[in-house]
Amino acid sequence: QHEEALAARSKDNLRSPICCILGHVDTGKTKLLDKIRQTNVQEGEAGGITQQIGATYFPVEAIKQKTDVVNQDGSIEFNIPGLLVIDTPGHESFTNLRSRGSSLCNIAILVVDIMHGLEPQTLESIRLLRDRKTPFIVALNKIDRLYGWKAVPNNGFEDSLAKQTKAVQNEFKDRLQQTKLAFSEQGLNAELFFENKNMGRFVSLVPTSAHTGEGIPDMLKLLVTLTQQRMAEKLMYLSELECTVLEVKVIEGLGTTIDVVLSNGVLREGDRIVLCGLNGPISTNVRALLTPQPLKELRVKGQYVHHKMVKAALGVKIAANDLENAIAGSRLLVVGPDDDEEDLEDEVMSDLEGLLNKVEKSGKGVCVQASTLGSLEALLDFLNVSKIPVMSISIGPVYKRDVMRAGTMLEKNKEFAVMLCFDVKVDREAQAYADEVGVKLFTADIIYHLFDSFTTYQKELLEQKKKETADLAVFPCVLRIVQVFHQRDPIVVGIDVVEGSLRVGTPIAIPKPGGENVVLGRVTSIELNHKAVPIAKKTSPSVAVKIEASNQPILGRHWEEKDTLYSHISRKSIDTLKDHFREEVAKEDWALIVQLKKVFKVD
Ligand code: GDP
Repeated sequence: QHEEALAARSKDNLRSPICCILGHVDTGKTKLLDKIRQTNVQEGEAGGITQQIGATYFPVEAIKQKTDVVNQDGSIEFNIPGLLVIDTPGHESFTNLRSRGSSLCNIAILVVDIMHGLEPQTLESIRLLRDRKTPFIVALNKIDRLYGWKAVPNNGFEDSLAKQTKAVQNEFKDRLQQTKLAFSEQGLNAELFFENKNMGRFVSLVPTSAHTGEGIPDMLKLLVTLTQQRMAEKLMYLSELECTVLEVKVIEGLGTTIDVVLSNGVLREGDRIVLCGLNGPISTNVRALLTPQPLKELRVKGQYVHHKMVKAALGVKIAANDLENAIAGSRLLVVGPDDDEEDLEDEVMSDLEGLLNKVEKSGKGVCVQASTLGSLEALLDFLNVSKIPVMSISIGPVYKRDVMRAGTMLEKNKEFAVMLCFDVKVDREAQAYADEVGVKLFTADIIYHLFDSFTTYQKELLEQKKKETADLAVFPCVLRIVQVFHQRDPIVVGIDVVEGSLRVGTPIAIPKPGGENVVLGRVTSIELNHKAVPIAKKTSPSVAVKIEASNQPILGRHWEEKDTLYSHISRKSIDTLKDHFREEVAKEDWALIVQLKKVFKVD
């Protein structure tokens, strides 16, 4: 036991930090990963880079070799055994995953296209990284596209820049300045990496090219120094198990499998594992621990290397029974000899239950579906800030049953008969059903695009409703007759607006103390100095108003020139204003409505 404890803190037991790469589409995330992975055969580069499940492992020897050009004096210290880079670019959901409060992703590379600056997804990534307090560096990629750039393949950036013409150097300076400014607008201080004196306060910008390999040595060097600086030492030792499901996949011959990242600890074949499932906890035994065949081996399709045991950090595929309902993003726990399986089940389910607590209790809201627990959480947080109520949540592809759930809103609140789907596929039958019943499905890979589509849709619905109910909406007004031009069919009068505003379409009536109101009809035109206007206000000069209706009352018998005219409000008209025209009704108007309610004896 004592020996084991010592061994646990020995150098062989250091674990590798986990690195995520994220940023806007087309900034070069995939290309950068490819370039770092590339083994330079001619120079007999240190190998050992291994392709894992959903991740690539770079042993420290490979990193040393790749940083050689910027480490001539050997001043970089290497304490980490290696670096595990998650390969699924743009895996925001992974960045958003946590275990015991800290992000599973220890460090991140945010890729920005130097020619494009900060783009929508960049901003979303920044938000995630800050929320999770994940240390990150920025790869300012595609420097080879600066006009006239002369490449020195795989060179350190400083040296490459020095070799450029003045014009190229100036363009670089300009773009760097713009990028810094854009970051400062996001509340982030950014500095060119070799001018950054305080990595805790300033984000380092590393210019790179995924095509020429320039700047990549600098990027790797920074990753190493930053992780060593920011990661607590104890984090680097293998300790308690930390394992997260990245993807749930059906594999021929293996059934449903889960791809996991083991970020700490050890997993063994036969281990009893517990994870979060869509319909409750899943407890099962590890049947196989699998990684891909090394690239050099003859690759037989579907063949994996089996492991009796794997150590953090790595990406590995787990084959086991009962994984069909496993949720991506779920934590995975191993049942130890002293553990109570049910306690662990409660623990893994708490992640999903935490999110279920964010669902609207009134049962009124949109349905939300996302690819993983992490992305679902990010989406829910965003919707919460945007004050969009959520009725139900789910994870994974959208099926008909999910649309049916959203369909229950059709009756109650049509504007919420909506599904916001983030980074998930929509089953064809589900889409067809949604189209048929009128449930709106919005899909996007950027959270705020969902928000935009949803709010645009809401506005459209509101406009439509306004059109439909325009006749029912009565804006309050009080009018004094100045002159009667025509007594009946139609009534044409000159009036002054005493209170409120008169609009074309407003029904006009004269309340009588005895009960029966005298209904004059609807305003069909308003003229100011012989010009038609849509609206007359208290501040307007006198206007001529035409009021039409069939069977209009008779002047002198039913109404008098000295009568005060009112917009004819009702319970229904007030409700319509409240429901669909709220933004257009001023405070004074509501006060006037209260007065008119008394005049017309509306409850
Ligand atoms: P991702 O969507 O962020 O993964 O972007 P990709 O890696 O797929 O790259 C998008 C496009 O940009 C591809 O056509 C790449 O060849 C190109 N690209 C990526 N990195 C660079 C670079 O450093 N220089 C230039 N000139 N093109 C690049």
